[in-house]
Amino acid sequence: MPQLPKTMSDDLVQLGRPARREPRQVNLPVEMGTTVVFDTLAAFEAARDGRYQSGTLYYGRYGNTASFELEKMLATLEKADDVTLTSSGVAAITMALMAVCGPGKHLLVADHVYGNTRGFCDGVLTRMGVEIEYFDPMLGAAIVHLFRDTTCAVMFEAPGSGTFEMPDIRAIGTAARDAGIATVLDGTWATPIFCQPLTLGVDVVVASMSKYLTGHSDCMMGMIASRGDIGAQIRKTTFAFGDKTGSQEVFLALRGLRTLKMRMEHFDKAGREMATWLAGQPQVKKVLHPAFDTCPGHANWARDFNGAAGLFGVIFHPCPDDRVRAFVDALHHFGIGVSWGGYESLVLPVKPVRTATPWTEDGQLVRFNIGLEDLDSLKADLAAALPILTR
Ligand SMILES: *Cc1c(COP(=O)(O)O)cnc(C)c1O
Repeated sequence: MPQLPKTMSDDLVQLGRPARREPRQVNLPVEMGTTVVFDTLAAFEAARDGRYQSGTLYYGRYGNTASFELEKMLATLEKADDVTLTSSGVAAITMALMAVCGPGKHLLVADHVYGNTRGFCDGVLTRMGVEIEYFDPMLGAAIVHLFRDTTCAVMFEAPGSGTFEMPDIRAIGTAARDAGIATVLDGTWATPIFCQPLTLGVDVVVASMSKYLTGHSDCMMGMIASRGDIGAQIRKTTFAFGDKTGSQEVFLALRGLRTLKMRMEHFDKAGREMATWLAGQPQVKKVLHPAFDTCPGHANWARDFNGAAGLFGVIFHPCPDDRVRAFVDALHHFGIGVSWGGYESLVLPVKPVRTATPWTEDGQLVRFNIGLEDLDSLKADLAAALPILTR
């Protein structure tokens, strides 16, 4: 048979479900189960010995047919050697860090990381005897000056949570690799549709699948994708903690992923249109959206990404906190809440936490997640509430 062309769009439809077997349901069922039984003790022992490998059915906690299919699908999308599913995005971050850190080691963490990443580093890893050092995410290749003999890994994010600086993934990945130091990148924002960091020199990509990957605000899940030997250690660590994703969640992830590309294409377009519109409003000082040149690291985004997610920040001209609170409360189409990447628009004021370099932007930072609503409705909602900021 001739080799047919195959793209990510084809993979999103064809992977993670039965093929070439009939008759068959299009989708895999929700697969519930604890004990797996074998016909012979020898077959049981073979499964036990291979239980750390994705695809080996041994016991419910180690995964099942559907979760292995999902791991395989994600590995194809991320161009990874290994993918391990976790119970949440936070679990993906903590399991990946537990796999690379140890007592007496030094961990470099970008100053703009997700709040719970900082919380885990400061609250748990330091207690384990890991020395945490926060660094300016825009350092690029100059990160080599922070490397020590004991440095085990660099943890960073693209772009930064809440503040959207886009680091030079290639420069940091290359510098760390040359020094034999692992890199862990939180790639939740871009998804593999817009960036595949493992192809840019990063060793490990973690993501909250609760956001775009599952995409419907109904599912908590995370994933760790990696290249090279590190995957085995990550998988063993995750199983050692007993972390596991639920069967219902696996089903929802396989369903959500089918539409990932078309959703991301919409969020790319809609996010840029809303950010452009907001940039034109008199209350707005600056838009922090990686596709705009007002965002630090915009050139890195332009070089390494082929699209932008629908989550961005806006800095409003300085005004008292109570005006921002009243503005947010006045919005009808934007829900107030954490997380993002579902189908619905969200808004949340952000107070950046910085310990390596101070946050010097004057003004009020507000984060917007653009959903699937009509953009004219979203603009009308914002237009009605924006005057509250200058009243
Ligand atoms: C939400 C988020 C997480 C955590 O994911 P959960 O699935 O909510 O645990 C991690 N990293 C980033 C960048 C996030 O936005």
